[in-house]
Amino acid sequence: MTRIGVLALQGDFAEHVSVLRRLGSEAQEVRRPEELSGLDGLIIPGGESTTISRLMTEYDLAQPLRRLAQDSFPVWGTCAGMIVLARRATDLEWPTLAALDITVQRNAFGRQVDSFETDLSVPALGAAPFHAVFIRAPTVEEVGEDVEVLAALEDGRVVAVRQRNALATAFHPELTDDDRFHSYFLEMVGAREGEISRDASR
Ligand code: GLN
Repeated sequence: MTRIGVLALQGDFAEHVSVLRRLGSEAQEVRRPEELSGLDGLIIPGGESTTISRLMTEYDLAQPLRRLAQDSFPVWGTCAGMIVLARRATDLEWPTLAALDITVQRNAFGRQVDSFETDLSVPALGAAPFHAVFIRAPTVEEVGEDVEVLAALEDGRVVAVRQRNALATAFHPELTDDDRFHSYFLEMVGAREGEISRDASR
């Protein structure tokens, strides 16, 4: 069975755990470096990126996670998790995991419209729009050459990206009933497992 870790230092990790279990995967809450062993992928939830990145450093998870993320291990960050995966983030005093060649702006929607919901077109998930929940969300300001844009708002601001093994969404698929982003991530995980077993049988 596929075993996915969910970083459980702060934020809405429990919601990711329930979606993963609903989809038939094993979900492991991760708070200590030992809990990273035997995982096929990792989700970094929404929450507060300053707190998550500070605790990651304090709990000795930052180094091993940085190594995994840069070594084709599948990772997905939602909202604060996107910030933690970005190479550069505005207003963040702790180092990020730099798994995605993007620059993100934290709290990009300001105080007045800090939370909203909208239907997004996400061609990688099929024709039906994805109902996206944004809560004090970041946006992607710059994307590197290898980064694929999966979704943007009508004004062009980028809100979902993928770069090989790393996926990031500025919104919270774990807070809706639409499991397509979780299934998409599980497909990324499955594709990597296929590559590993092909390499091993050579
Ligand atoms: N505003 C938060 C941050 O900067 C992210 C909010 C969220 O994850 N919902 O980390």
